[in-house]
Amino acid sequence: MFEYAPAPESRDVVDIRPSYGLFIGGEWVDSQGENRNKTVNPASEEVLAEVAWATEADVDRAVQAARKAFGVWSAMPGSERAKYLFRIARIIQERSRELAVLESLDNGKPIRESRDVDLPLVAAHFFYYAGWADKLGYAGYGPAPRPLGVAGQVIPWNFPLLMLAWKIAPALACGNTVVLKPAETTPLTALLFAEICAQADLPPGVVNIVTGAGETGAALVNHPDVNKVAFTGSTEVGRQIARSVAGTGKKVTLELGGKAANIVFEDAALDQAVEGIVNGIFFNQGHVCCAGSRLLVQESIETELLDALKRRLGTLRLGDPLDKNTDIGAINSAAQLAKIRELSDLGEAEGAERWSPACSLPDKGFWFPPTIFTGVAQSHRIAREEVFGPVLSVLTFRTPAEAVEKANNTPFGLSAGVWTEKGSRILWMADRLRAGVVWANTFNRFDPTSPFGGYKESGYGREGGRHGLEAYLDV
Ligand code: NDP
Repeated sequence: MFEYAPAPESRDVVDIRPSYGLFIGGEWVDSQGENRNKTVNPASEEVLAEVAWATEADVDRAVQAARKAFGVWSAMPGSERAKYLFRIARIIQERSRELAVLESLDNGKPIRESRDVDLPLVAAHFFYYAGWADKLGYAGYGPAPRPLGVAGQVIPWNFPLLMLAWKIAPALACGNTVVLKPAETTPLTALLFAEICAQADLPPGVVNIVTGAGETGAALVNHPDVNKVAFTGSTEVGRQIARSVAGTGKKVTLELGGKAANIVFEDAALDQAVEGIVNGIFFNQGHVCCAGSRLLVQESIETELLDALKRRLGTLRLGDPLDKNTDIGAINSAAQLAKIRELSDLGEAEGAERWSPACSLPDKGFWFPPTIFTGVAQSHRIAREEVFGPVLSVLTFRTPAEAVEKANNTPFGLSAGVWTEKGSRILWMADRLRAGVVWANTFNRFDPTSPFGGYKESGYGREGGRHGLEAYLDV
């Protein structure tokens, strides 16, 4: 592999304040609590800013602001709401470099991904749902579907701004107002988004951002005046939320974990499949709920495929997320790194064989090399649990029926991938795979027009597309 000269993106485009309050009712306000949280750059452990830690009373203020704004926002003609959403989408495009750099600083993901994947998709979501705002009567949910009210939205740290867009854009298009809680380790782009709402002259209280930890999220989903709960995160917290809102009449969507099978048949185009496997599990350091974390390879091509995959992994560049050459960035937090290490050590202890390419890890920050486990049995914990890191478990199969059986042998059901040159086999597989999304000869493709969501322990409800409107309408 030849060397690339460093090509760091300048961080001068972002102006990070030393300290942030809460964005409630269109204004920056202090938290009523005394706790504050430091958010760090996971690539260097440098403290980026201090953010407020919203208490139950703060959450209550935010919900009240959203309730007040609901009257104005829901009464506004859809065509007027659309103008605001289009305006937000355009400001996101104008400020996309700033947002991408901030996302990479706070999250650790490579700038190439935040710039070329996250940000374009964020803007696309707002554009797409702006288009729906005045056409809700034609969406298939009755001639005049009504919004639900105040949406309480809790999002994770793996795609901070993109998850915000998935939640806020459809909610607003349908006439709801929102209180959103970003993840503790990645609050900064949500706070910049609050500035964008102000810049777009969005009526006060339509979007409220409360930063904090798990308790803040719990206070939000349990607030009696919240009509709709939207959550993306771990299955464990998803379960708690499902329990706490049961019987309250709140509408809920849960987008939880996954353990996707990426299935490669012997007739697949191998080089393409290798790229798809790399994209499936090493994109965003594997911090992806729909990551292709289980590679199911047909036995006849196992050696050939693994040799090609290992050669390819040897060319991945791990390091500074702001360098435009970087393929693998930092792990988002010390806690997540500890979890990845623990599960990987367990994989070895259970008898699987571990392999990583030669790659030096920076001294500071949280890092984990791309890792492959071979000789994995279906019962191994690395084959069953979500590692949520750059760790691939390799299993083999002989027949299509065995591939289906093994792919579906998981408590999750979010996504799957199929690599074969036969269209009929793709359809045959897609019919049988219990997964919300099945990609064929590609992986990790997202589009605002396409619904996304899971079966079983991956959650319920759909986000994106026309289906994503249903979650925010009284139908
Ligand atoms: P969590 O599910 O704990 O976090 C997701 C969001 O929920 C965060 O904003 C979190 O706040 C908030 N939260 C935490 N506890 C509660 C609660 N009781 N009520 C309401 N909201 C709450 O995920 P983690 O960040 O702890 O990650 C743990 C594991 O979850 C990962 O290793 C991964 O396996 C999986 N995961 C899956 C994701 C997916 O997209 N499916 C995304 C993220 C994680 P805070 O961040 O402040 O704790």
